[in-house]
Amino acid sequence: MGFQAEVKQLLHLMIHSLYSNKEIFLRELVSNASDACDKLRFEAIDNPALLEGGADLQIKVSYDKEARTITISDNGIGLSHEEAVANLGTIARSGTKEFFSQLSGDKQKDAQLIGQFGVGFYSSFIVADKVTVESRRAGVAANEGVRWTSEGQGDFTIETIEKESRGTDITLHLRADEDEFLSHWKLSEILRRYSDHISLPVLMQKEEYDSEKSEMVKQDEWEAVNQASALWIRNKSDITDEQYKEFYKHVSHDFEDPLAWTHNRVEGRSEYTQLLYIPKRAPFDLWDRDGKRGVKLYVKRVFIMDEAEQLLPSYLRFVRGVIDSSDLPLNVSREILQESRDVRSIREGSVKRVLSLLENMAENKPEDYATFWAEFGQVLKEGTGEDPSNLERIAKLMRFASTHTDEPLQNVSLADYISRMKEGQDRIYYVVADSFNAAKNSPHLEIFRKKGIEVLLLSERVDEWMMSHFREFEGKQLVSVSKGGLDLAELADEAEKKKQEEVAESFKPLVERLKEVLKDKVKDVNVTLRLVDSPACVVVGQNELSPHLLRMLQAAGQETPDFKPVLEINPEHAIIARIQAAEGDEFADWANVLLDQALLAEGAQIADPAAFVRRMNALLLKSV
Ligand code: ADP
Ligand code: MG
Repeated sequence: MGFQAEVKQLLHLMIHSLYSNKEIFLRELVSNASDACDKLRFEAIDNPALLEGGADLQIKVSYDKEARTITISDNGIGLSHEEAVANLGTIARSGTKEFFSQLSGDKQKDAQLIGQFGVGFYSSFIVADKVTVESRRAGVAANEGVRWTSEGQGDFTIETIEKESRGTDITLHLRADEDEFLSHWKLSEILRRYSDHISLPVLMQKEEYDSEKSEMVKQDEWEAVNQASALWIRNKSDITDEQYKEFYKHVSHDFEDPLAWTHNRVEGRSEYTQLLYIPKRAPFDLWDRDGKRGVKLYVKRVFIMDEAEQLLPSYLRFVRGVIDSSDLPLNVSREILQESRDVRSIREGSVKRVLSLLENMAENKPEDYATFWAEFGQVLKEGTGEDPSNLERIAKLMRFASTHTDEPLQNVSLADYISRMKEGQDRIYYVVADSFNAAKNSPHLEIFRKKGIEVLLLSERVDEWMMSHFREFEGKQLVSVSKGGLDLAELADEAEKKKQEEVAESFKPLVERLKEVLKDKVKDVNVTLRLVDSPACVVVGQNELSPHLLRMLQAAGQETPDFKPVLEINPEHAIIARIQAAEGDEFADWANVLLDQALLAEGAQIADPAAFVRRMNALLLKSV
């Protein structure tokens, strides 16, 4: 049978880009064997017959010097014929195709991407030029075993075999230069390094030095080379950072080290242990609705389910790890999880731990925190709407671009902002636009730049929505600078206020004329003091949808209300002074050009671009 196209690509890339890290194949195969045993233990809760009288789950690793093979065996759930074809010939994860289309051919970059994707079973082909999988699913007859064989080129063969013992044996036929793996010392060293956290015993045949043959000789006895106890149950002080990291790779299927973790035993109304990790890099399917999310749930050390998304809110969907409850029933289902009070308290407790972990990182490891924010900040922002009870803590974790730094990097916290507020300023100002550059160059910022007042620059998809939930921080209102009726009174002194009133009065006739010409296109026309360099801008009412949000809704094919902005003009600008003298068609051209250019500056589409160009050319000609 042929491999799915993406599998072929993955195999090719894996062999070439992960070669410098080739011993990870063993970690991946032991990790799968351990998952298979977890699954059997779980299915056996309802159906003890699956254990076929043998409940001692274990993993065996052996090698054969003559045949040049390594074999990894487990007595877990096994694979049926169909499962072998589906799981070892295709990649059944949503978004796989798109993921592969991003690969560039640059080894180093692609190695990182593959890491995000997870390496898994196919990593065996880094060291093997032929892999044989012999398996029998627990509970089926001995003559319904399956053998899967492939040379990792483009196809695999599959046949039915007789297999006495339940579970899976995977045999790697090593490539020509890989003889270093044919040693007890080498294999056990790799297993200790990468798989010590596996909770089942990983056994190897004992070897002793035979002085007559002057070489190591295999004994009948098998011994565990790992500690074989669930890592999260051990005392924190007995666990090394390396062990925490390797365990992370096992539970997350990630290739890279985690950024941080938190490990706690919680006692009280509800008892559980949590070991939660923050990844260093967003998985390729973070934005995919069907993507992997959630943590592994165990009950009293028995694996219950992967991706138990009920245990954490969606805005923390990047968290990976394990929660082991002492209270939940073993036969807990996803439906029960949704309603359980124990789950609710686990969830609340876990949110608090993750937020503390992030606060700690922000405080003590700002570089790590910057990495976190760049990867997952947009997800965390969803918490403003999803988890109002933790709004204050989430807000403190947010980082923004701002006019103070004028670079796209998001590294300004609200505390930074507040510490730089001007005397008399009691609001936090922000602007939302389609892109960082549009935000940074928004005409609405002119007066703020002139007065040296900082404005937060928001340009991510989630921002407009976020700001609709996030209106106040530490008693200070958050105010959009692009909304109408922007009250800058707090920033003006007495003389300025007086001037404003006089100006508004003297421009009344012009405002009336503009309203008359533009009456079908704008809601209102006002004089503003917020502009410095631009002659005009458009704004919307405080409670109206912003043009930016309207565009997003339109792009998503949604019906939107008719949009009529308010035009605001800058009385200090030479063009405004000049058009007071214009009459008739010329004045109408000016009025329309003012409105259209204000819309363009906002990033909006104008209704009739050809008319805009015609009018502008007419005006240009006159001034030549
Ligand atoms: P992952 O572990 O992320 O699911 P892998 O590529 O490591 O991906 O494994 C692919 C699939 O093959 C597994 O999900 C599992 O269904 C199956 N599989 C691999 N090894 C075993 C095994 N030892 N026993 C049973 N099934 C296995
Ligand atoms: Mg795996």
